[in-house]
Amino acid sequence: MATTRPECLFCAIVAGTVPSTEVLATESVYAFRDINPGAPTHVLVVPRTHVTDAAALGPEHGELLAEMCVAARTIAQQEGLSGGYRLVFNVGEDSGNSVPHLHLHVLGGRRFTWPPG
Ligand code: AMP
Ligand code: ZN
Repeated sequence: MATTRPECLFCAIVAGTVPSTEVLATESVYAFRDINPGAPTHVLVVPRTHVTDAAALGPEHGELLAEMCVAARTIAQQEGLSGGYRLVFNVGEDSGNSVPHLHLHVLGGRRFTWPPG
């Protein structure tokens, strides 16, 4: 089901009505730099269609989810993240999730600790 929500910030970024710095664009996903980066590379990969968060994903989203991970790998190659990278989906209040449109954080360019803060 292809949907966008006019009141959604990341739908507006995908539509181009809110500006962003493009990193990668494919038919089904769009990737742009996080406005408040937590690492030298901090890119958000979002589906072009509106999905609220990772908890809203089902088997029907399998292909989309794989495409988001492939996009992350391509971005890591583009950004020269040969040492690795971290992928994050925040879900719900406790995680700090602030934008209710599915987004995969791609973080790299420094070493990360575990567990995260
Ligand atoms: P989350 O906390 O997982 O919901 O992540 C939302 C992310 O979106 C945060 O890292 C924000 O810095 C980022 N963000 C919010 N508004 C914008 C924007 N207009 N352009 C780029 N990134 C944004
Ligand atoms: Zn949206």
